[in-house]
Amino acid sequence: MIEKAFNPEDFKTAGYELVNLLSDYLSNTQQNPESMLVSAHQTPEQQREKWKNYESKHLNEYFKEFLQDSIHVHHPHYMGHQISPTAPVAALASMMSDFLNNGMGIYEMGQAAVAMEHLVVQRLAHKMGFDDKADGFLTSGGTLANLTALLAARRKQAKDDVWQLGQQSQLALMVSEQAHYCVERAAKIMGWGAEGIIKIPVDEQFCMRTDLLQTYYEQAVAQGKEVIAVVGSACSTATGSYDDLQAIAHFCAQNELWFHVDGAHGASAVFSDKHRHKAQGIQQADSVVMDFHKTLLVPALATALVFKEGNDSYNTFAQNAHYLWNNDEEQEWFNFAKRTFETTKFPMGFKIFTVWNHYGDALLEEMIDKVYGLGDTFAQILGQHPAFELAVKPACNIVCFRYINTQENLDVVNQAIRQKVLTEGKFYIVQTLLNGKTYLRVTLANPATTAQDLDELLEYIDQIAQQLNMHGKAQPLIDNNAV
Ligand SMILES: *Cc1c(COP(=O)(O)O)cnc(C)c1O
Repeated sequence: MIEKAFNPEDFKTAGYELVNLLSDYLSNTQQNPESMLVSAHQTPEQQREKWKNYESKHLNEYFKEFLQDSIHVHHPHYMGHQISPTAPVAALASMMSDFLNNGMGIYEMGQAAVAMEHLVVQRLAHKMGFDDKADGFLTSGGTLANLTALLAARRKQAKDDVWQLGQQSQLALMVSEQAHYCVERAAKIMGWGAEGIIKIPVDEQFCMRTDLLQTYYEQAVAQGKEVIAVVGSACSTATGSYDDLQAIAHFCAQNELWFHVDGAHGASAVFSDKHRHKAQGIQQADSVVMDFHKTLLVPALATALVFKEGNDSYNTFAQNAHYLWNNDEEQEWFNFAKRTFETTKFPMGFKIFTVWNHYGDALLEEMIDKVYGLGDTFAQILGQHPAFELAVKPACNIVCFRYINTQENLDVVNQAIRQKVLTEGKFYIVQTLLNGKTYLRVTLANPATTAQDLDELLEYIDQIAQQLNMHGKAQPLIDNNAV
């Protein structure tokens, strides 16, 4: 079997077939999207049964089935969670790096990928407005990157050496109540407990009330907490709202706190002349996280963690590992495992470098302008439609809205709409809770989506809502377990 598994001719045949399959698929999403669903939705049990009883077939048939059961992010009606349609050239790079399997946590195990990662992070830091002292690395997702940044913050700020001694005092950070859940998770992983997260209320735009920072800070100090950091969202996940980073930077400077920016989704605004101002103040942060896989055409995971002072990135994990590197003390930029959670590490820099180097800054800027522009377009369309209400004027490509042309309970109606949209699979949208109310939510990350698609979405939702009304009480049409 080993010989069979490594047969070059079989690889070539299957590879050509797969590339044909995917290029036909891509062409279909462009030329003929109405012939496809975004997602042929099935229950988890149906999928589990299918694959449990799956009999091995010709590879091409098998790949086709996987394709059919996948969600089609290249389809112009894909508007759900924050993920970018992959640029084909990045998918090729991914395949190549998977094939080569260079676990590039250390330089010797992936020379080119290491150099590319370094360059990608330096160029990004420059885009963000940092000077040459900035440095960082790529890591496996925004969630892990935020935790890594906060560990570095703790290392630098905490009075005690928590790394060696364990927690001695009640450490805490301040963050908006709209922040991504992973910030709270990070604080809890670090052992700070619920007391360790001080949530600052938001204004009507769902941005942090920076005017309250001082009061909350003083309260926390009076309670004996050791506040070490403030986390700004650029932007928040639910509504895409950008916190006032300059105000947070100012507050942090005055109180000598670490300023971390969770820019997983929206720090990529720095690639656009038109939208960069939304992240104004980002260059004053001590650390910034940004995902390339949410808006910039790179397959997941591809996350950068940039430090204003590159030195800070070396102190997070002080650890001896003599089988990997010779000198524990030295700051070797090329041995990333000294600074990252990962030991064996996926060569993310190669995927990013491929897209960025091949098409230049121009593609990334065009992407941000395009998808953020779609957010504005959708807001305009919604504004003209009396049956819908916008939650907040969008700052990026995330838009929250809801159907209001009904006497029924709006939360129930909008939940039923979202469920119906999900199970029919013609569009993919999600929902969120804002101030306790259910809203429909889209992330317009696909440059193939047009104003006409957005019109069609509203027309379609309107139809669904009318069907719900006809049936008297709006109940969730289908529950998750009984499709
Ligand atoms: C998506 C997101 C995250 C999580 O990033 P992953 O790459 O999915 O782990 C964190 N923070 C914000 C603001 C996000 O939008």
